[in-house]
Amino acid sequence: MSLLSSSSTPSGKKLASPIVKSEQQSVDYYFDSYSHSGIHEEMLKDTVRTKTYRDAIIKNPQLFRGKIVLDVGCGTGILSMFAAQAGAAHVYGIDASNIIDSAQQIIEENGFKQKITLIRGKVEEITLPVEKVDIIISEWMGYCLLYENMLETVLIARDKWLKPDGILLPDKARMFICAIEDGDYRRSKINFWDHVYGFRMSCLKKEALREPLVDVCEPQQVSTNVCQMISFDLEKVSVPELSVSVPYSVKASRFDKIHGMLVFFDVLFSHGSSVFTMSTSPMKRPTHWKQTVFYMPVPMSIEPNETISGQFSMTPNPRNKRDMDIEISFNHKRGFGPGAPTESQSMKYKLR
Ligand code: SAH
Repeated sequence: MSLLSSSSTPSGKKLASPIVKSEQQSVDYYFDSYSHSGIHEEMLKDTVRTKTYRDAIIKNPQLFRGKIVLDVGCGTGILSMFAAQAGAAHVYGIDASNIIDSAQQIIEENGFKQKITLIRGKVEEITLPVEKVDIIISEWMGYCLLYENMLETVLIARDKWLKPDGILLPDKARMFICAIEDGDYRRSKINFWDHVYGFRMSCLKKEALREPLVDVCEPQQVSTNVCQMISFDLEKVSVPELSVSVPYSVKASRFDKIHGMLVFFDVLFSHGSSVFTMSTSPMKRPTHWKQTVFYMPVPMSIEPNETISGQFSMTPNPRNKRDMDIEISFNHKRGFGPGAPTESQSMKYKLR
């Protein structure tokens, strides 16, 4: 899945939606945005995404043979068709968006009418023709993993319909953080507000800082090691546990100026004979999720082996649960030993 209430400029920089939406409007907007073929085209053309799902399904026929499969948010029906190809006895695909009309034509066109049943509606509201399923497949990830909050929907489906010994694909999700140098972007998008035709516009600078940037980051911009912050066992995690507050610590690998922290995720398919991983790391081939960058209020100068540590908190916005409120603290220990001074800052961000 992909970003919805935001759009990209030609340079791929994220722009927040200018429209304030009520909860109901935003729900409608959410499913509307998935009714157009463009968003599905973008997801299907993300070959890292789609081929990893295909491999994890098709290369594990022993998991699928004779099984009842549920595809949560089937979109065009692509994952349902992979599951049918892998030998599933029957696949149920659910989607609340109008794309399901196209999905119905697609499964018929490809000869899967007997194997795949599509159901229009919200996972939270529909009844399935069967009581339980053996496998749930879903591509639910949003920017910074949890944006759009569709994981909650997958967990609801799991608790309603998955057999006690049933499995989820993917079954694990992890989030990582590292620090980056990004002077060019900082100058053009943030420091810009310091001198606008000779005027200061610090309120807009603050606003620009609060908006995380979704963009592809060059691997050479990463100036620290990578710290794993979160690992969700998707077969066990509960909805309240999706509001996270976790510590992190990264160590500088060179002299550099740090402008922000970069967050990325991966998901794991570990039930088969080999583990398939779909990663959005800046060291790997870019995906449509890119990476998410959180700019610090004040850049930090770091030396090799110095640490930046802090707390990373992310929770759905109370007014619109598809948006995320994020808070990050940054403590930079300058030098080494017990007396080394620490430079601290923190910032609240809005992923809208
Ligand atoms: N599985 C497809 C589409 C993934 S996009 C693929 O891999 O290409 C996620 C889809 O989930 C969208 O089509 C969206 O409409 C659907 N979706 C999200 N939340 C849902 C919910 N609560 N109930 C039903 N469908 C949902």
